[in-house]
Amino acid sequence: MQQPKILLIYTGGTIGMIKDFATGALRAFDFDKLLERIPELSHLDCDIETVAFETPIDSSDMNTGYWIKLATIIEENYALFDGFVVLHGSDTMSYTASALSFMLENLAKPVIFTGSQLPIGDLRTDAKENLITSIQIASLRDQNGNPQLTEVGLYFEYKLYRANRTTKINAEHFEAFASLNYPPLAESGVHLKVFKENLLPKTKKKTFQVQKKLDENIALIKLFPGISCASLEGFLLSNSIKAIILETYGAGNAPTEAWFLEFLRKIKEKGIIVVNVTQCSGGKVIMGQYETSIALKKLGIISGKDITTEAATTKLMYLLGRKINHSVFKTMFETPIRGEMT
Ligand code: ASP
Repeated sequence: MQQPKILLIYTGGTIGMIKDFATGALRAFDFDKLLERIPELSHLDCDIETVAFETPIDSSDMNTGYWIKLATIIEENYALFDGFVVLHGSDTMSYTASALSFMLENLAKPVIFTGSQLPIGDLRTDAKENLITSIQIASLRDQNGNPQLTEVGLYFEYKLYRANRTTKINAEHFEAFASLNYPPLAESGVHLKVFKENLLPKTKKKTFQVQKKLDENIALIKLFPGISCASLEGFLLSNSIKAIILETYGAGNAPTEAWFLEFLRKIKEKGIIVVNVTQCSGGKVIMGQYETSIALKKLGIISGKDITTEAATTKLMYLLGRKINHSVFKTMFETPIRGEMT
């Protein structure tokens, strides 16, 4: 059997950064140097080719244009490679990886996102393990020689997660990501263990395609005690916003004050879609469990269930981009399409 072919895509982020001695700040450097720094890559049982963004970016500068660019790189190389590893800054990695999980339709090959907390050149770097194991995971095959993973994953600090279930939870620890509502897909220790029962089922004979229309006309409102009518009024004046994610408390609870419910009623009247997502990193929205969410249910607000804010944001952009009709939007959003909710 031929060795698996893996395409390594470098978008930027700490993993490929060096210190600018003039300013002391970290900045992106030439991707070729990244490979020079990891000669171990040549010992892996796969053929690796690399491609990099012309100008690598800190992931705080990530946007939908870059998502389309990344998806296009995968699309153009899809038939030529058995798996893809995307090197990305950790700050917005969960957003990009979630977006790609929706954009890459009928994916039958692994796309593994990784990065690091310390630059590759740092003595105590976590970059090498993250990179090497991600490539190994992208190379895994089943007994028929087909890719073992057929979804978008995120590998960091010994754990592979379903990407659209992850959130960056720590800016200091090597264990920077969590997936509180879904177990890991694989764990790396002395052995690399894949938990097959947690993987997405393989797509059957459908053609891989990339959805590149994303609608960015969405907004995110995070509730906090003391939130005022004045701070939300602008949304009622906007002519561009098509959907709002409401980050609520606990199991999807919100203030019951008359002004707030009136605000939501007017928003709905304007035809703006509202999705209820919990601020908690674990657990789910159950509208109607508490009195404080009954009104939201009555208003026909969409339940984000146990979706992350990252996945909700990108799923909204994807579904709005597909121009899903309002009458079925709620059902479409509340139905898992890439294992992003339970
Ligand atoms: N600021 C960096 C980025 O997200 C942090 C990292 O790479 O982990 O690009």
